[in-house]
Amino acid sequence: MSTTSRRSLIISAAVAGAALGLDKSLAVIAPARGLQTPDPAPGFFRYRVGDAECTAIYDGIWEKAHDPAFFSNASVAETKEALAAAGLTTAFVPIPITVFVVKLNGKLVLCDAGGGDQVQAFNPQSTFISGRLMANMRAAGIDPKRIETVLISHFHPDHIFGLLEKKTNAPVFPNAEIIVPAAEYKWWTDPSLISRLPAGRKPLAHRIQAVIPKWKNVLPVEGEDEVVPGISFVSAPGHTPGHTAFHIGSGNEQLMISNDTAYVPALCAAHPGWHGVFDQNAALAEASRRKLLDRVIADKMMICGSHFPWPGLGKITRDGARYALTVQTT
Ligand SMILES: [Zn+2]
Repeated sequence: MSTTSRRSLIISAAVAGAALGLDKSLAVIAPARGLQTPDPAPGFFRYRVGDAECTAIYDGIWEKAHDPAFFSNASVAETKEALAAAGLTTAFVPIPITVFVVKLNGKLVLCDAGGGDQVQAFNPQSTFISGRLMANMRAAGIDPKRIETVLISHFHPDHIFGLLEKKTNAPVFPNAEIIVPAAEYKWWTDPSLISRLPAGRKPLAHRIQAVIPKWKNVLPVEGEDEVVPGISFVSAPGHTPGHTAFHIGSGNEQLMISNDTAYVPALCAAHPGWHGVFDQNAALAEASRRKLLDRVIADKMMICGSHFPWPGLGKITRDGARYALTVQTT
């Protein structure tokens, strides 16, 4: 995209959000029980993809209570069976949050921003911990002030609340360019959206509309541009209207940062046809999931994801009509 069209998008985005007020519904429900998953030590994991230095950084975990509404076409018993088959606990659905930092071609790029200790667990039987990102980034020897670019996959709280200070909404990365999918930006910042959203999603849209369009360092990008040298957007809509994966290519090696395309692989890769309640358009999400996983296999890429088992890196193989993830930990 040219500099001129990028600038005009920033300006139109600022105009779109100018008339909106602040969201006041940021209360966090205290979890009824303690966290059962110990934090990994250390809370970072480093690996190379060609010349790219990738660091997975632990942000937290959602220990999600089982809920028959989680998938429209799979029962709680089937969900537990799939978790057990992957060697995971069945006491709850483990949904870790991992954020990725990529150093490539002299650029330091943060891929999504985690939950910033600001995401509700919704259900008192669930525990949601986030916001470990900054401390773990420092432990990994990465100074958050040196992040030049932030790529955002989609605007769900566990991916963008880490961009905002908890009480003030002040920007956590004021000096970085924040590159977002234009389709995602347009959808969430449309003032007519709020009346169309279910009650549970309205506070998120209010907060986005009150804050993000006012930031001058947010850059919506259309389609599948190379957004920084060596890293390209890959459209994977369905989870949200503009949900996007990130592709890294360096030398002969490739990594697909799949974000939420197959969020919990034990469930969504092993059963790609299961339709989750957090996939806004579940049929489109399934099509995007199959297309992306098929591409990863065909091109022999490594894959990582925001909610893959820590440290989020693995290999995908085809297992009949299903996909299987082998987690890589060394
Ligand atoms: Zn997510």
